[in-house]
Amino acid sequence: MRKSPTGLDQTHRTSVTPAIPALSSTPQSESSTTSRRITFPSYSGLSTDALMRSIVQSAFDPEVQVEVERLWTPSAWRINSGNPGPAVSIFGGVHGNEPCGIYAVCELLRRLVSGAMPLECGSVLLCIANEQAVFHGVRATGLNMNRMFEDERHVDTSYLFRRTEALKSLLEDSDIHIDLHSTSQPSTPFIFLEHENRAEISNINIPFVVTLESSEMHKDFAGTTQSFARRRGAKAYTVENGQHEDPRSREHALQVSIDFLKREGLVPNGDRQIGSPRVLKQFLMHTKQTDDFHFRKPFRSFEHLKQGEIIGTEGGEILIAPQDCYIILPTMPEKEPYGAYLYFLAVEID
Ligand SMILES: [Zn+2]
Repeated sequence: MRKSPTGLDQTHRTSVTPAIPALSSTPQSESSTTSRRITFPSYSGLSTDALMRSIVQSAFDPEVQVEVERLWTPSAWRINSGNPGPAVSIFGGVHGNEPCGIYAVCELLRRLVSGAMPLECGSVLLCIANEQAVFHGVRATGLNMNRMFEDERHVDTSYLFRRTEALKSLLEDSDIHIDLHSTSQPSTPFIFLEHENRAEISNINIPFVVTLESSEMHKDFAGTTQSFARRRGAKAYTVENGQHEDPRSREHALQVSIDFLKREGLVPNGDRQIGSPRVLKQFLMHTKQTDDFHFRKPFRSFEHLKQGEIIGTEGGEILIAPQDCYIILPTMPEKEPYGAYLYFLAVEID
């Protein structure tokens, strides 16, 4: 049976704009002629709703057995296989300066509506979450959206609150939720899981899964998309795909999303390998209390620390690793507001 994408005028399919910005090389400095670095495609200045619409217009194949559903919420589309199965939601751009999730959402949309990746059962909801922050190319326009998914309804009618409420409605029916992110500093990709459910940790193709220990930390993450979806019974994951501007982060975001769809049986499994990530548990979160914080050196996420090793100094005090552990998500302290985390420490559990 042929199906049409809801809300799309097929007569306009010829006026297609380029869907996804290409990678470009730019000189590192005006005077440099040999040293060039790859910059990540920027989505700033783009309407993500128009971007997703153009992808559907250009890639939609009427012979493909899926229903492409344009949702009432802008920058959100749902692909329905027509067969029973899990409802998967995949968010990119909750933070507007993290292009990997935006790329992955756009590429998944293109593959699913064109039939390049056949959807065999269930549905996939694809959404670019914080359109405003993406447009401005910033992490957030005011509040951190990934702390706004609390159970109470926001009554504020400004964009960020309205948008969060709309996204919460989309998550209500999700069985599996994946939120795609990247980090300011170089990092190995990992899944951040706000609990320690062994059944959900196993069989994921990613080097590390990081879980939380203390209830204090749980409180800090109560407003994430992951915790919101989880409170509604979904399996939910926050995936950190590498550094914002590392081109590998976008490929990782795409591949890990496809791997989840394979794992859950929505798309053909192919030759998928059984994943066995190393599992770490965070036991310490250091937050910014003063401007006088300095790391001993630029740490990389998942760098191993020996007990007693100096991490940095804060207000004249020396901060050391209380036990053999790993440092996770070290930030740039000078750029963080008071109260924001500066790093986590974690130990490996079996
Ligand atoms: Zn993020």
